[in-house]
Amino acid sequence: MGSVIYLDNNATTPVAPEVMDAMEPWLWGGFGNPSSGYSLGRAAAAAIDTARGQVAALAGCESDEWIFTSGGTESINTAFHSALAMYPSKRHIVTSAVEHSATLRICEHLEAQVFEVTRLPVDALGQIDLDHLAAAIRPDTALVSLLWANNETGVVWPLEKIAALVQKTNAVLHIDAVQAFGKIPLRLEGLGVHFMSFSGHKLHAPKGIGGLYANRRVSFTPLLRGTQENARRGGTQNVTGIVAFGKAAELVAAPFDPTLRDHLESTLLAKIPGTTVNGDRAHRLPNTANLSFVGIDSGDALILLDERGVCCSAGSSCATGSAKPSHVLKAMGLTDTQAKSSLRLSLSRLTTADEIARASEILPAVIAKLRAASPVDSPVYFS
Ligand code: PLP
Repeated sequence: MGSVIYLDNNATTPVAPEVMDAMEPWLWGGFGNPSSGYSLGRAAAAAIDTARGQVAALAGCESDEWIFTSGGTESINTAFHSALAMYPSKRHIVTSAVEHSATLRICEHLEAQVFEVTRLPVDALGQIDLDHLAAAIRPDTALVSLLWANNETGVVWPLEKIAALVQKTNAVLHIDAVQAFGKIPLRLEGLGVHFMSFSGHKLHAPKGIGGLYANRRVSFTPLLRGTQENARRGGTQNVTGIVAFGKAAELVAAPFDPTLRDHLESTLLAKIPGTTVNGDRAHRLPNTANLSFVGIDSGDALILLDERGVCCSAGSSCATGSAKPSHVLKAMGLTDTQAKSSLRLSLSRLTTADEIARASEILPAVIAKLRAASPVDSPVYFS
């Protein structure tokens, strides 16, 4: 990757060297189909079992509650499909205004059919109000689907409280834990969540492998029908991806150290006047900083940063390139201009102190250059 400073780990992460080593044998000698009865197939099936144990250990659930999928998006789609099949007469869904596009698109699709969707607002810090959640759940609510940690701001919602609250109702609870998994500790056992979605490429496994937790006590309706994954997800398993996800889960078991993120953030706040942090700093993933820089356009900033070898994003990666301000920042009350002056910097366990030191020089220079090119009139911006 040369001298690229990669600060877009919420979009995706590089595959860890240990994960590459773990995967490789399953591309060559161990290429058998895990459903085949001869030893080559049985070896692949055993590798899947090992990986299932590794991811389940990180999630704090039983191995048989973990279904391997193609990624977070498939897991979310499956959770919706399965949950809505449980109560065919219930036609109401509760979600939030700041979900990932996967959830947003499913809800729009369902809304265009027979479902009614309530989207909970967030406050200026990106936090959800539990009273709003309690009030939104109705007797005909089939599903509550919420993020655990937001992909744009890193804001973490109170999972235990949400689960306890939804447990008092008859609604099914799905949590999108794609960003949180491997960054903050999780113990699913006894939590009361019915479904939880995961993705390997956010924690140093390759793209195209994901996971879905389905609580044992919940009836399950597959989205992809077939025999694999105990008939819960059809299709020959992605053995290399599964092995990689298992190894990656093992590697991220230790707590994620926020020191480098904190250092980058405090340096930028000190060096660049007119910088604000978006999101609840007290309840945030340890790797994410979402900052607004008064007087700049994040699209222009991304171009200059890219020229200088820094990869980061404006809002979510899916929103990058589109002129639309982030729906997450807008929901938090930012104006279009403020939302469009924001950058998301997201670190990984592979980010080095040297990269952060270089980014701490490059970012202030880029912001200064952009401001010099189109100065902001009002001095109050920089108070
Ligand atoms: N949910 C969140 C919060 C995400 O950040 C992402 C990926 O950006 C997804 C879901 C989708 O995951 P995948 O890319 O594995 O489909």
